[in-house]
Amino acid sequence: MKSKSEKDYIEQIVPYAQEAQKAFGYLASVLIAQACQENGYGLDNDCLVLMEANNILGMKRELLNDTWTSNYWDGSYIVKPTPEWYNGKLTYINDAFRKYASIRDCIMDYCQFMRDAKRSNGSYKYRDVLGITDPAELIKQVRTRGYCTDPTYDYSIVKIIAKHNLTQYDIKEKEVYNIIDITAENHAPRTRTLPIKYIVMHYLGVPNADNPYLYNGGYGGHYNVTRAGKIYKAVDPRKGVVWHCGGGLQGNGGHAFYGKCTNYNSIGIECGVCADTDAKDLSGDSYLWYFTEETQEAAAWLVAQLMKEYDIDIDHVIRHYDVTGKCCPNPYVLDNRRKTSWTWEQFRERVKELYSGAESVREGCYMTTFENVHKGVNGADALTVQRLLFAQDYKGADGEVLKLDGDFGTNSEFALKEFQKARGLTVDGDCGPNTWAALLGKA
Ligand SMILES: [Zn+2]
Repeated sequence: MKSKSEKDYIEQIVPYAQEAQKAFGYLASVLIAQACQENGYGLDNDCLVLMEANNILGMKRELLNDTWTSNYWDGSYIVKPTPEWYNGKLTYINDAFRKYASIRDCIMDYCQFMRDAKRSNGSYKYRDVLGITDPAELIKQVRTRGYCTDPTYDYSIVKIIAKHNLTQYDIKEKEVYNIIDITAENHAPRTRTLPIKYIVMHYLGVPNADNPYLYNGGYGGHYNVTRAGKIYKAVDPRKGVVWHCGGGLQGNGGHAFYGKCTNYNSIGIECGVCADTDAKDLSGDSYLWYFTEETQEAAAWLVAQLMKEYDIDIDHVIRHYDVTGKCCPNPYVLDNRRKTSWTWEQFRERVKELYSGAESVREGCYMTTFENVHKGVNGADALTVQRLLFAQDYKGADGEVLKLDGDFGTNSEFALKEFQKARGLTVDGDCGPNTWAALLGKA
């Protein structure tokens, strides 16, 4: 039956796509988009024949039938002309398509095909795509394994997913991490003598590198989280103390926990960190450092586990900065939200969610709007713009290095316009949403 609208068509499919994802591990968003693509949202007259057959995925009759047996198709079919790509040319051929009792059967049949179909050598043709959680990667794998002859297929699918925000229908499994135990490979650390009261977060401070084994002559973290979100346990916190948050005061801020939190009563977590490789300024307080989503998600999960294991509350989860004033972990001290970095508060919120097992509200909630910054503006956002321009080596009209004073004057405006010019933005000296996105590496 013809559908009333694109939305109406999608809504019919959602529950079955989710049922199929639960049963087979094939993303609902991709399934729905494929059904939209194959069938013109059920609005296209050309697709009515397939709609009548409940074949919303354009399933052909012959689908490596001799290698698997469908639980959802009784062998009946229809014949219809269909476009095919051969050697880069579009042609039409008559083709036989499966006829189903319901669209649910069609969706389940497709997923079973993905799971069970084999190549002539007996290996599974598509099975490895089940469980892929990135829609773009999933559809690319499906196409390149030979499902579809249209070279633009994955592009079309990704576009449909974005247009209708279809990832909202994906069933998100709770992230599960393995802690990789490498404690045996490290030297015996100093013996723990005081009870553990604090968890202290750090950044590695080395651009685009991971050091899972970091525990060097007593310095380092008990745990190291890599940029890809892998967690390494280098030193058992119950047994050993490592040097990670001691030493004298640095800088002008932080150190609310100086003298309270020490190496002897805390656990240290080091996080791998990224920076733009062409960065001119990569000092400890540079505005160019950022964390990946994967690092932050894994670190938040690890902190939530350790809070339970050591009976620590969120107010005892602190930054190195809070102890000595060092700009560590840089993205959570500057809170400049560069690229994928969250703010410290957002990290704490995520830890709390993972600790309590509450439903995640993370998606979309970490977008932050900034005030427009232009000549005459004073304050924190103006300073952030100055720091971002400074870090990328933009200079004032006088050729001098920008003053980082939060007072957006002629030189700051000049540098901002140079940045806008270089990035192909409107050169108006006003830092609005587009310029902010470019400055923060989000566009
Ligand atoms: Zn640190």
